[in-house]
Amino acid sequence: MKGLLLLIARRYIAGAERQDAIRAALSLNRLNIKATIDNLGENVRTEAEAAATVSEYLSLLDDIKRSGADSQVSLKLTHMGLDISAELAKNNVETVIKKAVELDNFVRFDMEGSAYTQATIDIFHKLRRKYPNIGIAFQSALKRSRHEAETITAAGGSIRLVKGAYKEPPDLAFQDKKDVDRSFEEIMKMLLVSGTRPAIATHDLKLIDEVKRFAAEKGISKESFDFEMLLGIKRTLQRTLAAEGYTMRVYVPYGKDWLPYTLRRLRERKENIWFVVKNIFD
Ligand SMILES: Cc1cc2nc3c(=O)[nH]c(=O)nc-3n(C[C@H](O)[C@H](O)[C@H](O)COP(=O)(O)OP(=O)(O)OC[C@H]3O[C@@H](n4cnc5c(N)ncnc54)[C@H](O)[C@@H]3O)c2cc1C
Repeated sequence: MKGLLLLIARRYIAGAERQDAIRAALSLNRLNIKATIDNLGENVRTEAEAAATVSEYLSLLDDIKRSGADSQVSLKLTHMGLDISAELAKNNVETVIKKAVELDNFVRFDMEGSAYTQATIDIFHKLRRKYPNIGIAFQSALKRSRHEAETITAAGGSIRLVKGAYKEPPDLAFQDKKDVDRSFEEIMKMLLVSGTRPAIATHDLKLIDEVKRFAAEKGISKESFDFEMLLGIKRTLQRTLAAEGYTMRVYVPYGKDWLPYTLRRLRERKENIWFVVKNIFD
């Protein structure tokens, strides 16, 4: 089973080492595609593990600079110690942000399951007052996202809009794909007119076409927002959008803690689940 999952992981993950991610970012750059590199890991339980995450991100930022890769970084607050304390996570992520300021880079907070939404927003607000070089992700599946996204946008913050990769209860999240997509479209339009350089992160062709149509209709330039996709998904579409002059950025995960990320990608795609089932019984 682990072997099968590893096979699936190879599609979505650059490799186990930082240099694998740098190499992947540089190859994307050659196709005129930018990157955002993520060191895989979440829900660390000790301060020592959280400190190791910080140290990895500091080296990552140095290596991005040294290699000339056009890449931001993405991170998760539970990888920075949020399960231990909000104060610890805030201090740890601030260390990473300061380094990013020094190296003229940008840090995007991923959004995790709903147990962490409020803490992630609170830490983001506190740090955004001091550092303009940070952004946050919001999930259109969550009912609260529309309002929260408006608050952050009003303060000038940059949002990456995603549909949401976590299973959430009906009181917090839309359960029907149609509602998640409708929410995505509404928030997407609000972000595009906001002038806050949002990232529209989806592989959904219908929504991507709507972004293009809406932006053209409102005279929103291609340079004023990013399209973002995940490594290994819709590679041809990534290249096409870049060739059409849109800013295309690909999320490049690397690291040894590949399982939770791979399981989320597995859940998103029925074909992946069939692949596992078929091979188990083959
Ligand atoms: C840059 C980026 C950052 C993200 N950050 C976060 C985050 O911080 N928090 C969070 O909760 N989620 C995050 N996500 C994941 C996101 O929430 C969705 O789970 C994921 O993007 C799939 O949704 P979709 O918008 O592509 O639409 P869907 O309707 O799920 O998919 C549209 C099409 O894309 C293709 N596709 C989608 N998923 C896969 C897959 N796994 N394998 C192969 N093909 C696939 C299929 O062709 C599918 O029909 C991020 C996604 C991106 C692109």
